[in-house]
Formats: sequence, C-alpha cells, structure tokens
Amino acid sequence: MDALEVMTHLEKVTPFFQPIFSADEHTIIGYEVLGRFWEDGEAKSLGPFFHDAEVPDEFHLEVDDLILRRALDRLLQSQCGTSLFINRDARLLTKDSGEHFLSVLHEYEEKGLKLSDIVLEVSQSGCSDELERVLRYYKTLGIRLAIDHIEEMSGHLHKFVNCSPDILKVSLQTLRKNTVNQTYKDFLYSLSMLARKVGASLLFENIEMEYQLQYAWKHGGRYYQGFYLHEPAAQFLNTRIQKDKLRRKCQEFIIHEKRSLEKVYRLAESIQLELQEITAKYAKKSLSREQLLEAVAKHFEGMCFRVYICDENGFELTSNYFKQDGKWIFQPEYYDKNWSWRPYFLENILRMRKNRMGLLSDLYSDIETAETIRTFSYPLNDREYLFIDITYEFLFEQDGLLY
Ligand code: CA
Repeated sequence: MDALEVMTHLEKVTPFFQPIFSADEHTIIGYEVLGRFWEDGEAKSLGPFFHDAEVPDEFHLEVDDLILRRALDRLLQSQCGTSLFINRDARLLTKDSGEHFLSVLHEYEEKGLKLSDIVLEVSQSGCSDELERVLRYYKTLGIRLAIDHIEEMSGHLHKFVNCSPDILKVSLQTLRKNTVNQTYKDFLYSLSMLARKVGASLLFENIEMEYQLQYAWKHGGRYYQGFYLHEPAAQFLNTRIQKDKLRRKCQEFIIHEKRSLEKVYRLAESIQLELQEITAKYAKKSLSREQLLEAVAKHFEGMCFRVYICDENGFELTSNYFKQDGKWIFQPEYYDKNWSWRPYFLENILRMRKNRMGLLSDLYSDIETAETIRTFSYPLNDREYLFIDITYEFLFEQDGLLY
C-alpha cells in the first residue's frame, strides 16, 4: 500500500471493529479498532502502512489519530456502551509522554466518553521506564490496559506486568492441530498461570478454527477474538450474535473435558486397587523396599518406566528402579536425593496422607527423558510414599490421557 496514496486520501481511512467475546456470557464485550482503507470498493487493511518503517512517524500518528477519532465518533453515536480496544505503538506513545493520545480522549470525555470504556493495547518488544510511567498514569484515570502479543515478549514481560495490565492478549495463530510442538503449548500454559497470578484476564486472538477456541476455553481464556467467531466489521453488531454458537461449543467442550477427566480418574482408581493388593502381599511377606519396587515394576510392566520410594520429606529411601533400553536396573545414585523442592510435592504428600489415597499427576515433561509423562504417587504408610512414572507410549495408547 502506497503511503502517499493513503496520506492524500485520508477520507478513505476508516475504522473497522473486530468483536471480542466473553467466555462467561458469550456476548460481545468490546471491539478491537483496526485501520482500513477503502480502495476499489474494498476495505483494505492498513497493517502494511503501519508496519512500514519507511513511513515517517508523523504519518503514522496522523492516521492513528484519524482512526481513533472516527471510532470514538461512532461509539458515541451508537450509544451501545461497549468498550473499544485501541492499538498504540509503545514507542510512538512515549514520544510526547502519552500527552496527545490522552488529549483526544479528554476531548471525547466532554462529549460523553467514559475512559473506562477504553482498553489501550500496547505492543512493542520493550518497556521503558517512561512507558511504564505513562501506562501507570493512564490506569489511574480508569483506562484499561492490554498487553498485545504477549507471547512475543520476553525480557520486558516483568516491566509490563509492573503496570498491572487488565488483559494479556495472546495470539493463537501458530497453534494449529498437530503442527505445534508441546513446548509452545507449555509456554502458552505458563502465560495462563502468569495471568492468574497477576490478576489479569487472558484474551486469545486469531481464533480461526474450533480447535483454537477449545484451547482458549481450556486454558483460562476469558475473552475470545478471531475469524472463527467474527471478522472485523464496518459497524457494531448485536452483542448476542454468537451466543447460541458459543454456548453450544462450550457445552461440547465441557462434555469432552469431563470424559477426559473421568478417564484419568478411572486409571487412578485401577492403579490404586492393584497397588493395594500388591502392598498387602508385601506386608505379609516382609519384602525389602527394593523387592517391592521389583514387584510393582513387574506388575505394571508396559505402563511405567521408573519407580522409587520417598519419605514424607521427599528424601529417597531407595534407588531408582529404572527401565533402560528394555531392561530394569537399579540406580543407587538416587538414594537419599531430595525432591521436596518440586512443585506440589509436599502438598501432594499431605493430601495422600490425609485421604489415604494415591494421586495421578497432570501431564508434565520428565526432567531426564524430556518425555511427556504422568506420575502416580501412593502412600504405603505415613512415612513411605511410592512413585510410579508412567510412559508416554502408555498414555498415548489410552485415548484421552494425553489431552
Ligand atoms: Ca492488537
């Protein structure tokens, strides 16, 4: 797109609105404002214009400003009380300490705009002290803050988090079934944990197929945006436009998730029952701990690849009994190692002691084999806890256990 063409035909610049849906009500709660340029009867994206580094900042600022004003005019005319998500480049925003953007908003405030209806989407790889100051100030005025493309931020994440963002926007563009590795999914999962810890809501965007919507639902997405739900439109829409579809999909996801959870519980139950039998025999025959490990590994051959016993503080009371190249071996170097530092370790020990029941862990990557596994832990008594690491192959064969 030719920048001069845009600058000489500013009357063709127009805001488009892409609806953002809520997970709790399945209605539209706001719109991301996107720049479009009318050409040959088509509204073309101004993305290339905004991403063109050759175009002077003044041009970008002028077009940004125009889109903002036209969008705010539309908002006030429509009186639909929705929120507008406004994109701003962090670098341009700090050029005048955020003054100009704010002056436009104040101008519209006099005409009836509520600043709390504005969500500022900031993107950029860096967060300077100046930007942090500007964003914090905006927040005191009631403007909400969203961090755009959070999955692309690395070193500056903590600075943005310092500004108490209301929303973290995560693109699911690269998340397509069977083509994305587990590591990327784990990374997205860690973002959902971060959002929860800092009290921000997750907004998943670029949802283009059902699988991505399901992913967003399962990973704590409070807001959804993307072509699967609705493309950017020239006008505001009926807030309930996708209520039926979202409700129906949500119910399907719930059924699917419950089935998976039931499978996990059934597996845990069957391991529990079988272990009770084995350990009852072990108690009668007064076998050593190592002999118990051998008996357990033999019984669960084909399911597990590592077994060991720890005390209630996480110190190993045995060697690891480990299946290496198809053969079981003892690894004495693990004796007396401590695992209390691992996430959930002590919490799980207490749960097992209180309920006198074993626990099946969530999926995680084994630190030695790097395989995705689950661990079944089981209280032998108040002082000894048995751990059984379950192989990826086994979980893969049991449909639903890798989900
Ligand atoms: Ca954006």
